[in-house]
Amino acid sequence: MKILIANLGSTSVKYRLFDFSSGEGVLLVKGGIERVNDHATAIEQVQSELKEGGWITSQADLTAIGFKTIMAEGITGCLELTEEVVESMEMCNYVAPAHNPPYIKGIRLFANKMPETPLVGLFETAFYQWMPESSTRYAVPKSWHEAGVRRWGFHGASHKFIAERSAELLGREDVADRARNLYIDDAGSKVEGPPFRVISCHLGGSSSITGIKDGTAIGNSMGLSPQSGLPHNNRVGDLDSMAVLHMMRRNNLSVDQVEQALCCDSGLKGLSGGHNDIRDIQTAADRGDTNSRLALDVFVNSARHWIGAYFAQLNGIDALVFTAGIGENRAAIRAEICANMDQLGIQLDSSKNASIEAEEAIISREDSAVKVLVIPTNEELVVAREVKRFLDNKKN
Ligand code: ADP
Repeated sequence: MKILIANLGSTSVKYRLFDFSSGEGVLLVKGGIERVNDHATAIEQVQSELKEGGWITSQADLTAIGFKTIMAEGITGCLELTEEVVESMEMCNYVAPAHNPPYIKGIRLFANKMPETPLVGLFETAFYQWMPESSTRYAVPKSWHEAGVRRWGFHGASHKFIAERSAELLGREDVADRARNLYIDDAGSKVEGPPFRVISCHLGGSSSITGIKDGTAIGNSMGLSPQSGLPHNNRVGDLDSMAVLHMMRRNNLSVDQVEQALCCDSGLKGLSGGHNDIRDIQTAADRGDTNSRLALDVFVNSARHWIGAYFAQLNGIDALVFTAGIGENRAAIRAEICANMDQLGIQLDSSKNASIEAEEAIISREDSAVKVLVIPTNEELVVAREVKRFLDNKKN
């Protein structure tokens, strides 16, 4: 059984092909096309790369195509992407304008080109479906809540991978097992040992922090959309809702202008005055650019704010995990986030932290009560496994 996972961005199409013939998901090949102008051509290129590489002989070799879909109105979990589901995704386009439209476009193109192949989505919100209502409610009028204004949480596939892998690495197979089976036993099973508490920091182009207890999310720094929480590369992160009204009234901004400002010209780009890649920001800061230094400081401050929130909610933690582009590769940012947290039991080993390169490692000191880890994320594997499970359940 071969399952292709397609990761669709507005200007990129990345893919990973997994083989499940041994029962476990084994990565056969990965690839991607950057600077995509025409998604249809990019999808054809993926198909021919798979054929030319000898990974598939025809489209019929693909049992399904899986997608790390973002959000849909009234829908979460892992399910087949019928036109009805895609229309529900479309209803959220203006809530997740950077994320939902490229997926919808790509899914329709795949459906068109490969009508016989099931298309299955694991929604990024799925990992948060067991959060208590006190963590999902905004303090808005009931009519707003009924219209769908609630906290969700995103980067679910990544944080789920961290939930599982951190437990494995720290010898908590009972918790890893629970995390692995979340979607089939609805987070119902109990763990045997003491509570296992993790804060997972997915820091990348988009960033979010999740509190995890016994393999299940208790909260995520993103809310109704992937817009809130930490500042992102070009999106704002947390913002007082009155700021929107203030700028609309003061500068006579239209809804579209506000969307452009908050979704394209804010975040690290807005703060630094133009850069949205942390490498460029760091280089500029090192050269003495104060706006870039400020962008890094705001980012670090926000990460510490969210770590503090989940630290309190979890009554302490066993592990703090860094993942994704920044979390896996930027030792300086990890060090700044972990600085002066010894009273919370977090003590980084600075030489270990500086010496690793995007690899799995424990980077805290031996005597640190909290283990600090770097774990390269594997969102596609999580999606592939859930797609397989979905197909197996459908057969039974
Ligand atoms: P996305 O959210 O788009 O998937 P990534 O997880 O790839 O983003 O993270 C992008 C961020 O991570 C950028 O700010 C980039 O500077 C940083 N980053 C990614 N890869 C590296 C690397 N190899 N070395 C240093 N920084 C990196």
